[in-house]
Amino acid sequence: MKFAYTHATPDPGFVEAVAFANELSSMEGFWQEIAEAEQFTYTTVTPAAIAERLRACTDVVNILHIKKRPITTAVTDPGMPLTIYVNTRRFHNRRVRDKVNTLVHEFVHNVDFFRDGAQSKRWNYTHWVKDHSDRPKTAPYWIGNLAERWWELANQHVPEDQRRAIVKAKGVPDFAGAEDFGCEIAHVPESEIER
Ligand SMILES: [Zn+2]
Repeated sequence: MKFAYTHATPDPGFVEAVAFANELSSMEGFWQEIAEAEQFTYTTVTPAAIAERLRACTDVVNILHIKKRPITTAVTDPGMPLTIYVNTRRFHNRRVRDKVNTLVHEFVHNVDFFRDGAQSKRWNYTHWVKDHSDRPKTAPYWIGNLAERWWELANQHVPEDQRRAIVKAKGVPDFAGAEDFGCEIAHVPESEIER
């Protein structure tokens, strides 16, 4: 999991979030936690297999700016490999921790669609349903929320080797649901990209 963010006028919150997410990638306990999670909903792929696939993706994922309708926080375009589009209209109401959550959530979509071996170019562990109540139990939401929880524990100066036990004991809160995160999987036309 490696992100690059080279926008001409970068958002300081995303700069910080990218730095943390890139660090998170080298933390063994983070991947173990995903591997040991309860089975996610709307998928037959096991958490252990998902953890392995995410971890195996070491290609750089680029972050680009777009302007979308207000409700969407971030977009994955099935026609655009390893790219995350973040909506500048949603920057103002999002903290660094929310941005960490967003990046890791979208990374799950990227790997699912573009880096999933024989099953690529299909959605194998996503959240398509209209009913949103199960969202925290899907792989993209749960793993994004886990990343935010690790950000929280890191900022509380909890040592890396103790974070896993804390999360195991207390579970992963639904941060994305609480702050009304909006994810879209859609084609992003060039005209919407802010260079
Ligand atoms: Zn999503």
